[in-house]
Amino acid sequence: MSTDRTDVFTGNFTQQEPIPQAGIDAALDVLGHGRLHRYNVAPGEVGEVALLEQEFAAFTGARYCLAVASGGYAIATALRAVGVRPGDTVLTNAFTLAPVPGAIAALGAVPRFVEVTEQLTIDLDDLAAKAGEASVLLLSHMRGHVGDMDRLMEICDANGLIVVEDCAHTMGAQWRGVPSGRHGAVACYSTQTYKHMNSGEGGLLVTDDEEIAARSILLSGSYMLYERHGAAPAPEVFERLKLEVPNISGRMDNLRAAILRPQLAILPAQCAAWTARYRVVEEGLRNTPGLTLVDRPTEEAFVGSSFQALLLDWPEPGVREVLDRCAARGVELKWFGVPEPVAFTSRYCHWNYAAPEPMPQSDRILAGLLDMRLPLTFSLEDCVTLARIIRAEVSAVWQAGTGGERG
Ligand SMILES: *Cc1c(COP(=O)(O)O)cnc(C)c1O
Repeated sequence: MSTDRTDVFTGNFTQQEPIPQAGIDAALDVLGHGRLHRYNVAPGEVGEVALLEQEFAAFTGARYCLAVASGGYAIATALRAVGVRPGDTVLTNAFTLAPVPGAIAALGAVPRFVEVTEQLTIDLDDLAAKAGEASVLLLSHMRGHVGDMDRLMEICDANGLIVVEDCAHTMGAQWRGVPSGRHGAVACYSTQTYKHMNSGEGGLLVTDDEEIAARSILLSGSYMLYERHGAAPAPEVFERLKLEVPNISGRMDNLRAAILRPQLAILPAQCAAWTARYRVVEEGLRNTPGLTLVDRPTEEAFVGSSFQALLLDWPEPGVREVLDRCAARGVELKWFGVPEPVAFTSRYCHWNYAAPEPMPQSDRILAGLLDMRLPLTFSLEDCVTLARIIRAEVSAVWQAGTGGERG
């Protein structure tokens, strides 16, 4: 193992693996027959989207599943389906990605943010304090950190809060053996390129509630063809609702579903491969002076598709120096403390439309929060290199005294 402190990492942080050959073949079949619209099926044919819905329902153990155009669309649909109305307050995480408060805003509803802990999960005390202000919690398992779902559900049940889960980063994860997304009333997943399955854009929604399922399917633009779904409630449920629910088109098409089905078949192995990479980075960074790692509870079976660590209470110039020095060695870290939103990263105080109140606890966490993607195109050896570089640069800045009070 090299201990050269000037080595440079040359991997590409945004390069995914290719689509599995079975997905390419299935996509070519769809292109060959031309029936891309999910309801455009030959007599007796079950379309790729309906099959994907059946398979994803089985994967999560949910009764119903709907595939849609994006993760953000799935969230907005779930919120509509559970009855959120314009002007309603919806509780959600202060630490999440822009499409989450954006989905609330899409309904004319108002996000009310809940603080984040040093474990990067929603602060359950703050949630309990704010529980009376809303009837829905949009819970975002941001960057794959699953909080204590037992206590969270106790708080929500005691306060009559309906839970909609954003599982964009927890597809394939579990809390005490329960798949992520199976605690709340409805869960939403993304199949956008940077998530755990890749169809460019796409989303999935699962629920056990027949009314939420039927409303979601009607909302997604099922016209009156809901009987062509693979994991939907009985037609009677739709009969009750079909004249009441607007069509807000956001369907998935057969091409994307064809690409996704072979990826779902290998998802558990992919998740294990991500977490193996995560564990290598974590090991390499353990006991780095000045760097706080995030303890992962044993109840959580997470998917390590990205890595987070904290430069807690560091002055801003020290954080910037670490970022610059890592970048100079090819290691792309995102910083959630950056004053202006950059690329995919923004934080609650950038979402002016939600008129957020200052959140001192979240500000402290986000000001020190480093974030790194771990695409599966990185080898375990790459992960050793990444950790070695980050460790060296954090240590150098810390020892020079720019990392904090001490020198
Ligand atoms: C990506 C993402 C979404 C939504 O995904 P899109 O498919 O891009 O709309 C929602 N929540 C989180 C935390 C995400 O990272």
